[in-house]
Amino acid sequence: MRLTSLKFVSEKREKDFAKLNIYSVEDLVRFFPRDYLDLRRVTPLYAAYHNDVVLTACEVLNVEVNRYSKRPTVKALCQQNGRMFTAIWFNQPYVAAKLAPGEYLFYGRVRNKYGFGCQMVNPSFEPASKAEKLKGIIPVYTLSGSLTQGVIRTAMSEALKKVDCPTYIPRSLCEKYSLMPLNEAYAEVHSPSDGESLSKASARIALEEYFLLISAFKVIKGGRDDERKVVYGATSDDVRAFASRFPFEFTEGQKSAVNEIYLNLRSPHRMNRLLQGDVGSGKTAVALAAIYMAVKSGHQAVMAAPTEVLARQNAALLERYLPEYSVKTLTGATPAAEKKLIKKQISSGEAAIVCGTHAVFRDDVVFSDLALAVCDEQHRFGVAQRSSLSDKGNGADVLVMSATPIPRTLSLIFYGDLDITTIKDKPRCRAETVTAIVTEKKYADMYAYIAKKASEGEKTYFVCPKIEGDEEGTVMSVTELYEELSAKLPEARIALLHGKMSDSKKNAVMEAFKGGEYDCLVSTTVIEVGVDVPDATTMVIYNAERFGLAQLHQLRGRVGRGDKKSYCFLLPGADSEEARERLNAVKNSTDGFEIAEADLKMRGGGDFMGTRQSGRVLSEIKNLRFPVETLFKAKALSDEAFSDGSDVSLLSRIAVEKYESLKDVVLN
Ligand code: ADP
Ligand code: MG
Repeated sequence: MRLTSLKFVSEKREKDFAKLNIYSVEDLVRFFPRDYLDLRRVTPLYAAYHNDVVLTACEVLNVEVNRYSKRPTVKALCQQNGRMFTAIWFNQPYVAAKLAPGEYLFYGRVRNKYGFGCQMVNPSFEPASKAEKLKGIIPVYTLSGSLTQGVIRTAMSEALKKVDCPTYIPRSLCEKYSLMPLNEAYAEVHSPSDGESLSKASARIALEEYFLLISAFKVIKGGRDDERKVVYGATSDDVRAFASRFPFEFTEGQKSAVNEIYLNLRSPHRMNRLLQGDVGSGKTAVALAAIYMAVKSGHQAVMAAPTEVLARQNAALLERYLPEYSVKTLTGATPAAEKKLIKKQISSGEAAIVCGTHAVFRDDVVFSDLALAVCDEQHRFGVAQRSSLSDKGNGADVLVMSATPIPRTLSLIFYGDLDITTIKDKPRCRAETVTAIVTEKKYADMYAYIAKKASEGEKTYFVCPKIEGDEEGTVMSVTELYEELSAKLPEARIALLHGKMSDSKKNAVMEAFKGGEYDCLVSTTVIEVGVDVPDATTMVIYNAERFGLAQLHQLRGRVGRGDKKSYCFLLPGADSEEARERLNAVKNSTDGFEIAEADLKMRGGGDFMGTRQSGRVLSEIKNLRFPVETLFKAKALSDEAFSDGSDVSLLSRIAVEKYESLKDVVLN
């Protein structure tokens, strides 16, 4: 249906819509708001902190455009209750034409630059007179040319009445799970009644989209060989007895994870499972239980970790909790003669449990009876490595673990057809970790705090992105920082750790830090994954903007492991809009899944799906806010649709048509 069939849409506006990739009324309905204004919450600027995103009322006094700088900027001088402030727009010269002196509602980020007063950056706005007619939560769309928010909103409400959005989730499943009708979801997203139903509606649309995408993968990929080859004799009593070896009671999440794994290993289907849970949710104990099931049944198990330090830590746990089995550790640092001996013990079956790094993937590591392969922090491993582990046994079961479900795991869901177990809770009585974004003027306070903590026996991690400094000196390096800290914290005992050190040196430093010989550890991200030092309570991250969100969250997870209050200080090295948005996403959430979602939203989908087609689809829904669980729900629904005898021929045809281009990806 042509856009010009809508009121107020002239051919000129039709062209403006085309610039936003909207060519029809159907496309328009799928053009999701880039943001929402909650008119029920207006904040005075004096109450806003640096980097807050607020809705505020003000008067625009005067507007200026600078077209000659590299980035054209529009500046408006504004006042609110007698206080002046400026609003600034980068790269949006057209804003000037829409902004005349008068009363407005502004929505955007506040910059409270020390000494320069308050500023709003790239705010969206609405004349106060018009805003009066609007109530509740209103959508904000990306604009182009002559389009205004008003024009789009009007066109949208008409379009919603004309377009019918077909659902491809079989009707029986829609009814069984009481899914919201899709038309209703679209209407809600474009004109929300309240926050809660808005997020339900967003999730519903995302569910439909992912359902179709996952179904397409399924059809294209065909069946997989998941016939169980390894037989497990371990009983549920064995597993319960094993769990009682731990000094703590398993959380509900851990218990049900162990249960799912047990049922899978006793079922006729081979296990190919992702165990996910936020940092600190206790995935390791679950993995140990799975390993126990394998060795108790008389088979071998292997546990791979991405770093030497982690492999050592896992080895120590395996030795502690499975003392009756022979545990062998194989890493890059293992001396050649010892390696040879261990490999022999693996192929003869003398070694029941093998623990190590990438070294365990090598072809010359041959098992006599491998039943289970566990990959810890699997986002560091490639897909090929994971399947090579499973090939080492005669159809070994595979358990991969991750605290960062996006993006690698997302692709694994599609490629590998993994089953998913999620640990949703965390062991109780953990003190929370407070995250703060620390600017230069607060450095002194921060160092004073750390010095005090060091004198009280609490430890601090310092992380920077690089080992050595670069020429521009824009990025803090561990070597520079090590020297700087030695001067700033003269009383503290400081250790240095980085990836260029030999593995044995790294281990020695790590052990010494754990053992209390040092107060501070200056390091690159080698400490990122899994390291567990309960009395480390502060994490300082330099050039935090250079790290991925999931990585920052992982790093933060290194503290707050004991019962003392912990802090994570994020030190931005560059002040950009994007950097701030990213760091705030980490600061404002302690939920790894939510952060993964933010990462997905900011980076779009195209990155990790590898094709433009799927990227397009994912980026279409990227403005919607929905929990990552939606993905897993979509997978479960798709599994159900394909197994419960529903007629999936139409669904299959539509899905494959829509995602034709995925064939290449799946088949290579
Ligand atoms: P992750 O899921 O991040 O890999 P770990 O397995 O390293 O988490 O566990 C984090 C910490 O929590 C460890 O010190 C572990 O001993 C502890 N832990 C695990 N499960 C429990 C539990 N049920 N109760 C108390 N502490 C637990
Ligand atoms: Mg872990």
